[in-house]
Amino acid sequence: MSDNGHNTKTIELPASISVRDLAQNIDASPIEVIKTLMANGVMANINQLIDYDTAAIVAAEMGYEATPEVPEESAEADGGEIPLWRQVIAGEDTSKLTNRPPVITILGHVDHGKTTLLDAIRHTNVVEGEAGGITQHIGAYQAEHNGRVITFLDTPGHAAFTAMRARGAQGADIVVLVVAADDGVMPQTREAIAHAKAAQVPILVALNKIDKPNADPDRVKQQLAEVGLVPDEWDGDTILVPISAKKKMGLDDLLEAILLVSDNTQILANPEGRVIGTVIEAEIDRSKGVLATLLVQNGTLNVGDVVVVGNSHGRLRAMFDYHGRQIKRAGPSTPVSVMGLNEVPQAGDLFQVVDSDREARAIVQERQATKQVEAEATKDAVSLEQLFDRFQAGELKELRLIVKADVQGSLEPIVSSLKDIKTGDIGINILYSETGNIGENDVMLASASKAIVIGFNVQADAAARRLAESEGISIRLYDIIYRLTEDIEKALKGMLEPELRKKVIGHALVQAVFRISKFGNIAGCRVTDGEIRRNAQIRVIRDDEAIFEGSIGSLKHHQDDVREVRQGFECGILAKGFDDFEENDVLECFIIEKVPMM
Ligand code: GDP
Repeated sequence: MSDNGHNTKTIELPASISVRDLAQNIDASPIEVIKTLMANGVMANINQLIDYDTAAIVAAEMGYEATPEVPEESAEADGGEIPLWRQVIAGEDTSKLTNRPPVITILGHVDHGKTTLLDAIRHTNVVEGEAGGITQHIGAYQAEHNGRVITFLDTPGHAAFTAMRARGAQGADIVVLVVAADDGVMPQTREAIAHAKAAQVPILVALNKIDKPNADPDRVKQQLAEVGLVPDEWDGDTILVPISAKKKMGLDDLLEAILLVSDNTQILANPEGRVIGTVIEAEIDRSKGVLATLLVQNGTLNVGDVVVVGNSHGRLRAMFDYHGRQIKRAGPSTPVSVMGLNEVPQAGDLFQVVDSDREARAIVQERQATKQVEAEATKDAVSLEQLFDRFQAGELKELRLIVKADVQGSLEPIVSSLKDIKTGDIGINILYSETGNIGENDVMLASASKAIVIGFNVQADAAARRLAESEGISIRLYDIIYRLTEDIEKALKGMLEPELRKKVIGHALVQAVFRISKFGNIAGCRVTDGEIRRNAQIRVIRDDEAIFEGSIGSLKHHQDDVREVRQGFECGILAKGFDDFEENDVLECFIIEKVPMM
């Protein structure tokens, strides 16, 4: 009990924790945590790991007193969160379970040799392809030792992999922790250990760079013992293999040790069971469309299967292995690159196979609905349109901007003309201005500081747009400076109208006109393209000329009132304030939508 803080709650924190997890533990939103970090001079995104000391400062500002978590307890006490794919395997009929290749992730401090090690194993031990062992980079590959297969996740440092790195150990069965013998245990080494422990994944140490003259294996072993990894030669239970990734020394020993650890860990799956796995990486390929690397963790994935992952879904049109060869099926622990998803999924997301396209769409719709509800709940971000109201209400005292432009030469005039805007009581605060496209980090910081992101001759990348949508952040893109300053000026004066545009959604051809005295004339139509919606507007076009524009009074299909009628179907349309339909009139149906700001 602390005797100074009567209201202070206590919290145990691990050696490192992601911003997201910290926020959850101290009942704060990730944005609040990011803001507090910013106030303390630390720029971090939601998936970034922060160390204990930093986390403790943030926790203190939120009224929590932090104490270091005892690692052994944490692993057992809450059991960590068991990943869904492991739960699926645990739920399988045990008589159906068979051994599958272990999945290895290589973690460690920067420059300790992770990439070199992955390349060394790839070149010496990769399972040969018929065409001669030229591997494709799909984010994972398989190596062979003594006739047994080992799957390696192969994307350290990959940008899209950050999300998964935080959960990195969860997709893997064994963590190979690379520690440079000349440098020892460093902050990211500790982070990796914390992750592996949280995910309850066994750790095997590759003591790298033993070829270096200043390598000091004993000192490193001592440091490892201090963080709870006692080497087996000191009667501990951590296997430690000295290697040189650069000189390709000790690689066989390392693979041998990996198989030894696998034999002591139950690495099982049901190849006939429910199909589930993890997205390793994903991208859009110009000719192939969405390409995603999936690691199958249970069941067998087949070409033609319908897959759902996050908000993305689709029927798999083709699958490729890491040699780039087309394959038809992929069993447990196999990484495959697949074609056929409709959107780029996120690395680290779980995928599953469902029975039909319809089921896939239903799942995605439900997910989107849930997300929208969540987004509504977090809507305290600013949009340029609502700014004035919020100034008036005294909620905002200044307009904060993040400005991105293509070149330095355009940044300067933009910044100076923004500063010239006469704003009355309200200040314009440019948080920062930089050259380059708008990325996720810009949006994250905009969200944290309630700012608007302005782009001049630049694009917002896909991740930035996704985040902006979910956080309700405005991204405004311009290619003419005065339009930019004009918009800002208008926003400050409360004059900015949301930009609206008409979007045509369908056409119908009038085939007959029914005269019903009580309500007026009904146009009997066939929808020629798109759809007609009850709550949309119509334009009546005769001889290429629009003779009426207004709303629909009623829309019927046979005798029933309906909300929409699609291409190829017949319908009866009654317009509000228009009666003069003639055969062969074209009815153009349109909606009015806000122009997306991106
Ligand atoms: P990563 O950041 O962990 O992926 O580290 P890298 O694989 O990029 O390696 C960082 C540097 O260490 C590179 O210059 C490598 O050539 C070097 N390096 C990696 N392994 C060894 C090794 O076993 N011996 C020596 N002498 N250098 C190594």
